[in-house]
Amino acid sequence: MKTHRIYYDDAYVKEFDARVMYCEVRPPDVNSGITSQVWGLVLDRTAFYPTSGGQPNDLGKIGDANVLDVRDDGDEIIHIVDRRPSSPDVLGCINWPRRFDHMQQHSGQHLLSAIFQERYGRPTVSFHLGVDFCTIDLRGPEPSDEVLEGAERAANKIIFEDRPLTVRYGTAEDLADLGVRKEVDRAGILRAIEIEGADLQPCGGTHVKSTGQIGTLLVRRCTKMRQDWRVEFVCGARAERTARQDFLRIRTAAGKLSCAPEELIAAAERALSERDANFKRTRALLQRLAEIEAGQAVREAAPNSDGLRIVQQVVEDAEPEFLGHFATEIAKTEKSIALLAGASSGNILFAQYPSAAKDMDGLLKQVLAKVGGKGGGTRDFARGRLNDPTNAVSALALAKDLLSGNQLAL
Ligand SMILES: [Zn+2]
Repeated sequence: MKTHRIYYDDAYVKEFDARVMYCEVRPPDVNSGITSQVWGLVLDRTAFYPTSGGQPNDLGKIGDANVLDVRDDGDEIIHIVDRRPSSPDVLGCINWPRRFDHMQQHSGQHLLSAIFQERYGRPTVSFHLGVDFCTIDLRGPEPSDEVLEGAERAANKIIFEDRPLTVRYGTAEDLADLGVRKEVDRAGILRAIEIEGADLQPCGGTHVKSTGQIGTLLVRRCTKMRQDWRVEFVCGARAERTARQDFLRIRTAAGKLSCAPEELIAAAERALSERDANFKRTRALLQRLAEIEAGQAVREAAPNSDGLRIVQQVVEDAEPEFLGHFATEIAKTEKSIALLAGASSGNILFAQYPSAAKDMDGLLKQVLAKVGGKGGGTRDFARGRLNDPTNAVSALALAKDLLSGNQLAL
């Protein structure tokens, strides 16, 4: 049986009387987020919009049942509800704020798509009405900032002119005569939405009665989506909310940088260049500190029987790059070897002055095989990481024993 679609001719019906024609128990449908038993309800007439054409379904109540989903099934509209209505004669009630939001977004989409097509030759290939943002995918070259801004301005101009939106019916030929460009392969009488002087296109969705009710339209990001360009936009109350959130973000960021909102970009640039300068200064200081500490450590290390000065140290690694500088500096002194580890990071570094003539890479691999960890390097410089940083002291002790030829340590 065919459901009469009240919203086709009047999208502003919020409450309606109807008769239950059919009601059946349906199993849970986890894919649709429905985890318990529900009922599928067909009414003789409905103002509930089913998900289709990029517009999500309505929610609301039918009698005392909550509407969880609305599906388009050919001639019928199936309402998924959480209980069987107690009477065959029911009052349907649409969640109006949700529906009106969808109407603002959908009408805004028709307007924006028409402008991208007419002014900039970019047809819309798909539309999505999301929870926070709406998107259209445009075919053609990448829209520049000027194109995006121009489309937004043109859309808002038509919104401010408060032009009527009307529903038209006709065959595909009738609509083609009226200027519908889109190829329609459906037979019979089709429904189309006209924005006076701006657009006419086939659509089964719900729309506001004049462009003024779209409120305002904001074009947001544009990103590449396969071969097309996805343009994000918001209309009506969403535009208001988005602009408000943007301002709060700007104000918070400005507060953190202690500047006025209009000085935000200059202040951010200043903060970044200060950060870069501090970074360079810290690196230079770490390098200088490594030179001084390395000089002292090498002097304090007594030469062993081979005349090698072995500096063995577990370093508190507040600055991870310090360890590298320290090892390099130690290895600049003739016959010196650095055996270093970071106390908390578990980083481990071995370096030698080439004439010390040991094999740092081989030594590290031997130690890591015993203690656990990963790493490697060259004959003169090797680095790695211990699986367990608390093994740092024993790892260095083992390395020193191996260097001294004390195989008993193994
Ligand atoms: Zn539409």
